[in-house]
Amino acid sequence: MCAVAARQIDRRRAERAVRELLAACGLEAEPTMAQTPALVAEALGELCSGLETTPPTLGLIPGPDGLVALDGIRFYSLCEHHLLPFFGVARIAYLPAGQVAGIGDIARLVDHLARRPAIQERLTDTLAQRLKDELKAKGVAVRLEATHLCIAMRGVRQTESRLITECQMGDMGPWSGW
Ligand SMILES: [Zn+2]
Repeated sequence: MCAVAARQIDRRRAERAVRELLAACGLEAEPTMAQTPALVAEALGELCSGLETTPPTLGLIPGPDGLVALDGIRFYSLCEHHLLPFFGVARIAYLPAGQVAGIGDIARLVDHLARRPAIQERLTDTLAQRLKDELKAKGVAVRLEATHLCIAMRGVRQTESRLITECQMGDMGPWSGW
């Protein structure tokens, strides 16, 4: 399972780095961009807030063993190669073994794990593993579907393409997929 320990983002250092980035573009003296380094550093703290806090734990309650599926969980992340956003929808399904999780907790976990530089493939696996460990479910299935700005705004410029990744663990019983 991927490391999820919390660390602090050095805002001042990030601010200096953005100032340097602007200077590399010849924009360091633009009066309208004077606040940009501070604003970017602040935004980075929010976009990567998953680095600074430990993952939320799921509130579990006793429940029936019928299949549970949660669709339409919005997430936003940054690709770790270009630091450009990728964003989309997560779908989670699990086959419980005597306990179920609060649906808000599952959505919070998706949001937390997404808010850091990542690749979608690993994020999918990390999410599935974390859910499997916490829910102690018989099986877990995760599907992420996302738009990546690094292939839409640059590179191959495929504005309509979406990346779909899935990870299934354990026994999902009658589950036949999304
Ligand atoms: Zn990328």
